[in-house]
Amino acid sequence: MVIIKFFGGVNQIGGNKFLIEDKDTSIFLDFGMNFTEKSKYFEEFIRPRAANGIVDFLEMGLLPDIKGIYRHDLLEFAGMEKHPEPIIDGIILSHAHLDHSSCISFIDEKVPIFTSEITKLVLKIMQETSQRNIEDEIVNFKERPITDKRKKPIERNFPKVNGKFKVNGLEVELVPVDHSVPGACGIIVYTSDKIIAYSGDLRMHGTQGYLTKEFVERLKEIKPDVFLCEGTRIDENERTSEADVKTNCINVVSKSKGLVIADFAWKDTTRFKTFFEVAKETNRKLAIPFKDAYYIKAMREVIPDLPKIDDENILLYQDKKGSGTYSKSDYQVWEREFIDMENTVKADYINKHQDEIIIAIGYYDLPELIDLKPRTGSIYIKSTSEALNEEEIFDLNRLHNWLNHFGIQYYHFHASGHAPGIDIVEMVNEINPKILIPIHTDKAEMFNRLVRKVNIVRAEVGKEISL
Ligand SMILES: [Zn+2]
Ligand SMILES: [Zn+2]
Repeated sequence: MVIIKFFGGVNQIGGNKFLIEDKDTSIFLDFGMNFTEKSKYFEEFIRPRAANGIVDFLEMGLLPDIKGIYRHDLLEFAGMEKHPEPIIDGIILSHAHLDHSSCISFIDEKVPIFTSEITKLVLKIMQETSQRNIEDEIVNFKERPITDKRKKPIERNFPKVNGKFKVNGLEVELVPVDHSVPGACGIIVYTSDKIIAYSGDLRMHGTQGYLTKEFVERLKEIKPDVFLCEGTRIDENERTSEADVKTNCINVVSKSKGLVIADFAWKDTTRFKTFFEVAKETNRKLAIPFKDAYYIKAMREVIPDLPKIDDENILLYQDKKGSGTYSKSDYQVWEREFIDMENTVKADYINKHQDEIIIAIGYYDLPELIDLKPRTGSIYIKSTSEALNEEEIFDLNRLHNWLNHFGIQYYHFHASGHAPGIDIVEMVNEINPKILIPIHTDKAEMFNRLVRKVNIVRAEVGKEISL
């Protein structure tokens, strides 16, 4: 008998943690943080205390209370019982977004993490370019308590996998899909007598929509018994494509007489390419912060059609830090290689060449506008998802205050990382699984209304389903 236990990611968007148990093998599909749940208790200034290790996360229900999976140093630090060996054989990770990956930070390093090479690289760069934080120690971690800062971190084990591979008694297959971060995969698990497929997060309308279509073809071939299907946008039918984003941007950028500010997710290489092309087609250059430059440079090794960071259409934007004097010592070690590059520019350069530049900065960089001094006719393109919750609406209001202050015109052009309902229904009907379990959605009931031919089973957090 095969059991799927749901520890997050059902009746909520993100926080996916699905445990599959079959004979002597146990694996998790994803192990992410549910940020909606987290924001019920925490915000920027009320954070889980690093000094309390794992305890705050367990107490507030942000990590499942499971014995035998967490890091020994954290268990010991919390005075909790340690296990001789972890009780799970691995975590299969669909993609790098934190709502799928973040809680891996707390997992015993003896548990191998199986994911695509691209996802591994994205995770590595995410960690290298941010401050060490107990919730972002996916690739490596420092044992707690940190008494000696120079002590080397412990590296987690990411075995190199391709196509089908074995995790103890189970066969697993990673199949690339299109999503708003590179390296995303759907997952197929061949248990002793059932085939379980998992969508991860996906869409058909991106520039690599063909990958998702190939995943669907693969599932049609193998006829899964169970399909764990994401339904983030099951209630929406809007299907703006990446190509639409590009056309809309070209339209407004070509008319702008001032600076163009492009606000998009830095990990989304597809959107980066869109803005790179928009810049080229409107005779502008794309100016990117050092963090983006570091990321694009590394990702180019695995995604060769990304431009070089010294491309004639790219500028590297050196923002003011620390002392405010652009001194080398103000910058992190990984940033320093960009300081002396020929295409590196500072705020005054951008200010003087406003109508020749698209600058890739966003909400958290708004104070940069004070140095960039955008002139009348400048525009801000928000190319991320719409504000949904109260906090995001508050942020959007603050963004508008900034834009009004500088007289900047606002536009919103975005293509979602998630398939709309119409595409999900078509996909499910094509795959025709014996059972469909809606995941990564807070509108699971919509599946019952829209999907007629397939048996839908509703899961709940903390419950299990036996197959
Ligand atoms: Zn997600
Ligand atoms: Zn995602």
